[in-house]
Amino acid sequence: MTQAIGYAAKDAQSPLAPFHFERRDLRDEDVAIEILYCGVCHSDLHQARNDWHSSMYPLVPGHEIVGTVTAVGPKVSKMAVGQKVAVGCMVDSCLSCDQCDRGMEQMCRKGATMTYNGKDRQTGDLTFGGYSDHIVVREEFVLTVPDSLDMERAAPLLCAGITTWSPLREWKVGPGSRVGVIGLGGLGHMAVKLAAGLGADVTVITTSPEKEADALKLGANRVLLSKDPEAMKKGRSSFDLIIDTVPVAHDIQPYLPLLDVESTLVLVGAIDMLPSFHSGHILGGRRRIAGSPIGGIAETQELLDFCAEKNILPECETIAIQDINGAYERMERSDVKYRFVIDLASLSADR
Ligand code: NAP
Ligand code: ZN
Repeated sequence: MTQAIGYAAKDAQSPLAPFHFERRDLRDEDVAIEILYCGVCHSDLHQARNDWHSSMYPLVPGHEIVGTVTAVGPKVSKMAVGQKVAVGCMVDSCLSCDQCDRGMEQMCRKGATMTYNGKDRQTGDLTFGGYSDHIVVREEFVLTVPDSLDMERAAPLLCAGITTWSPLREWKVGPGSRVGVIGLGGLGHMAVKLAAGLGADVTVITTSPEKEADALKLGANRVLLSKDPEAMKKGRSSFDLIIDTVPVAHDIQPYLPLLDVESTLVLVGAIDMLPSFHSGHILGGRRRIAGSPIGGIAETQELLDFCAEKNILPECETIAIQDINGAYERMERSDVKYRFVIDLASLSADR
């Protein structure tokens, strides 16, 4: 065992605070990683506060991890000490079902092991995430960070990036595709950059008129204010794919008429009861409502390589770990441009 330090929520009400714990000794196929940066996802906040009624405490959040390999187990073949690597939302799965076989480990029939708030498949111990100084992960779930990607800004690709990349690929977005992105936050701003990188025509559908200039700078072609009924009327039947990143329960009915025939609105945000909607909105044009969870390991590597090739990086505000509770409050107010990233060197102040 090695001694680790991180920040944990001890229950759904308390702020995150320093927490000492142990990481396992390396198994044969394990990689030990010194964590340099970790992105702050809205899911971290949901889980720290037990919004999804499945949190286990103490809870060390963090699933947008980048760092350097410090040691490898004897059977590790693809990773070496000193290598720049990353870990996303999963650290294990059964690796033998049909979903794992096709690279969709996030939909493992036996359930993937999540990076935090999960249970180790061998010991049943709680998994602890990236708001910490180091982590031990089996090789299959460790990604390679291409040399040209800036480590400080790469972290959000591991969740915000892959969660929006996966539906863009599934629905075959490319040059000429008309993509709408609801919510310009961590996920939304990556959806804009990635869809634009794939050559799509991109519209940000937002509640915040003040984000218009940013949206255009990020690569959107235009902005549609969801609170403006006239603009929403004009936008009817004009999208092939809409990615909905809204983090709370919300009415999707106003967005459905924006879909063109045989087009899809994919929910990646709120995990909650959504208000009912009139079936005529989707039945009429054979429109679809879908969902999408994160993404597989191979497609995450594909995303990292794509971002390196196209020089696409998240917009980040780097914080010290001691500022995490204030960052959560700002994220709740949608006051982040567009992802907080924790510099884990700041943990030294709590040792
Ligand atoms: P975020 O940075 O807080 O961004 C959410 C954005 O949604 C806000 O910036 C805001 O954009 C819009 N919004 C917020 N409240 C709204 C409301 N009441 N009505 C309409 N729009 C609202 O959050 P994030 O990190 O991108 O995460 C978004 C959601 O995705 C979270 O619920 C998270 O748990 C979930 N998530 C899912 C997966 C998955 O696997 N499917 C993976 C990661 C995260 P505007 O100001 O532009 O309106
Ligand atoms: Zn996330």
